[in-house]
Amino acid sequence: MLADYHVHSLGHGERTQTFENLESFVVQAIKEGINEIGFADHDWVERNPDFSIFEELREKYPQIDILVGIEVDHIIGRNEEISSYIKDQPFDYVLGGVHHLGENKWMFDMLDYIEGYRGRNIDELYLEYFKTVEDAALSGLYQILPHLDLIKIFGFRPKKPVLSLMGNLLEIIKEKSLAIEINTGGLFKPVEEIYPGIEILQACFKMGIPITIGSDAHSYKEVGRSFDAACALAYKVGYRQIATFRQRELIMHDLDQKKNSPLIKGNIA
Ligand SMILES: [Zn+2]
Ligand SMILES: [Zn+2]
Repeated sequence: MLADYHVHSLGHGERTQTFENLESFVVQAIKEGINEIGFADHDWVERNPDFSIFEELREKYPQIDILVGIEVDHIIGRNEEISSYIKDQPFDYVLGGVHHLGENKWMFDMLDYIEGYRGRNIDELYLEYFKTVEDAALSGLYQILPHLDLIKIFGFRPKKPVLSLMGNLLEIIKEKSLAIEINTGGLFKPVEEIYPGIEILQACFKMGIPITIGSDAHSYKEVGRSFDAACALAYKVGYRQIATFRQRELIMHDLDQKKNSPLIKGNIA
């Protein structure tokens, strides 16, 4: 089983939710040998998707499972507002992503705001970031925490080992029965590394925290991107199963490797 659970069919709002647009993502997923595609558009782009279009797609493409999730931009203090638009809609899963920090809601993952890193103590910044992710984990709103170490996006690295800056985050993730995500989008950012880093993923595996895999595709061409590397990393760490979701209930499946994956070639970096 291969599933891409992090697909933005609307990008950052450049496209609309038409059958043709969604279909291009589904067709690409089938080409990539993916068994399940999960759409998870940003909540600030679309909070009320038209679920009937996905039903039409399921009828036309029975060879692939098509799920509908959403990626919420988690901001401390907004749990009630977030709950109001996710609780009564039939999302299969909700990703709780942290993209803003602090009172002024600094968008630390946007190149336009990279200035915000200057003069900051990077260890303290990581502490603040992981505290915000912890708030997402504790909220009870989400099933999956995507790109767990997104704060590394521009290559600003802490002096201390990253695990020592995470506090009890992984224990909380375990206790709340959340899944985390192997997100290949980081390979195409300045950091050029999958989220999360291997030391975090190894710790998650040891604790029995389940994983999903996501491309963070913002265009149909990016669906399933670098899943060979994602599968190789998962295998290297020890994972043999991935989590899938139906109506926010977790179901485990055996993880397939992609053909020609670096693991099969025996050249894991
Ligand atoms: Zn995100
Ligand atoms: Zn995303």
